[in-house]
Amino acid sequence: MTFATLGLIEPLLRALETLGYQTPTPVQTQAIPAVLAGRDLMAAAQTGTGKTAGFALPLLQLLAMEGPKVSANSVRALILVPTRELAEQVHEAVRQYAENLPLSTYAVYGGVSINPQMMKLRKGVDLLVATPGRLLDLFRQNALKFNQLQTLVLDEADRMLDLGFSEELGNIYKALPKKRQTLLFSATFSDAIRTLAGQMLNDPLSIEVSPRNVAANTVKQWVVTVDKKRKSELFVHLMRKGKWKQVLVFAKTRNGVDALVEKLQGLGINADGIHGDKPQATRQRALDRFKASEVQILVATDVAARGLDIEDLPLVVNFDLPIVAEDYIHRIGRTGRAGATGQAISLVCADEVNQLSAIEMLTRQTLTRQMEQDFEPEHRVPDTDASGQVVKKPKKPKKPKTSSGGKRNLGKWVESGDASAPEPSIKPVRKVPVFNTGPRKRKP
Ligand code: AMP
Repeated sequence: MTFATLGLIEPLLRALETLGYQTPTPVQTQAIPAVLAGRDLMAAAQTGTGKTAGFALPLLQLLAMEGPKVSANSVRALILVPTRELAEQVHEAVRQYAENLPLSTYAVYGGVSINPQMMKLRKGVDLLVATPGRLLDLFRQNALKFNQLQTLVLDEADRMLDLGFSEELGNIYKALPKKRQTLLFSATFSDAIRTLAGQMLNDPLSIEVSPRNVAANTVKQWVVTVDKKRKSELFVHLMRKGKWKQVLVFAKTRNGVDALVEKLQGLGINADGIHGDKPQATRQRALDRFKASEVQILVATDVAARGLDIEDLPLVVNFDLPIVAEDYIHRIGRTGRAGATGQAISLVCADEVNQLSAIEMLTRQTLTRQMEQDFEPEHRVPDTDASGQVVKKPKKPKKPKTSSGGKRNLGKWVESGDASAPEPSIKPVRKVPVFNTGPRKRKP
């Protein structure tokens, strides 16, 4: 499938070539022909799926090919977004896609002076990206008319409702021409979104794309909760108990990698490590030996492990959870490849609860928890679930019942979490924040 076969015109294809887009994403494959055919759309797609191009490309094509020249203070297509950051971002994408088309585009949002926006709108714009509050202000001050409006896009509709824009949306809806094309994108479909869709959409085509963040279901994943200071000891215990043969282990920091490798080697275990501080040749050698099964345990940071392709890797262990939730997907994607079954075990301590919560929210699943006998944590890991909420504050746990108090000394050990700053990760396009930032403030 190419963008050309989806029916996009040459000026758009050239823009996509400049941007390096080669293949349409699933949401684009479904949305582009439908929008070009004039259908309304109800799309379950979240950020990262390529949804912006999914609606913007056909929209721009329709604007370029059909309809009158835009009149003063008018707008022909409107993209509503929840925040000013998103307005800027979507507008920037639109600007790039429209590079070779004779169309005017603009973005308006609150928190900045309204006058320059009013001036800019005087001549009219073909495509306007807006937050709902500022759009209404402009409309009420007669800076905007909707009589030429042919397409409305509601982007991140669920977030618009979460941010309390439902009244504004209702008022905008009343001001729009009844005959128009409407495209609604939302990551989730609550009853409120369905009501909104019922009101605003006309016989919509429903499309749903599975988020790229869902891990392969061939990977069995679970968490073993443990105190931070006992992670290395637990790792060795699990390794011996499970008779692990070939394991890729992820640690958060370079020091963490070195310390775990040293520890394992000290116990006579065939281990090696790779991280960004090591010369490329050394990393490659370690990797080649791991692939050839000459090394049993390879400990890596996220940066060093990116792009590894190891066939039939049976097990990935997250010695530390990643700082960025999306890295979890990359990590466990190293196992269970091409339909093979794999396992991913995460050793999680109490101060990683926010990272765990972010991973569960991203992967839309609550990870099964286990405790290993004699390793029950003294610092309980608070409950989490896929809603992204950390359910309760940690309770003071009961003392473990073991006679040794569960503390076996395996020698001097530096925990990875205590080591230097985490190795910077190669950032995917956009990330889900690992730490809960609390309810979002509405930005008018
Ligand atoms: P979105 O989900 O629309 O926020 O897009 C996520 C990122 O993917 C953006 O940085 C886009 O530039 C990029 N993107 C969208 N579609 C494609 C594609 N077909 N090929 C490559 N990158 C893309």
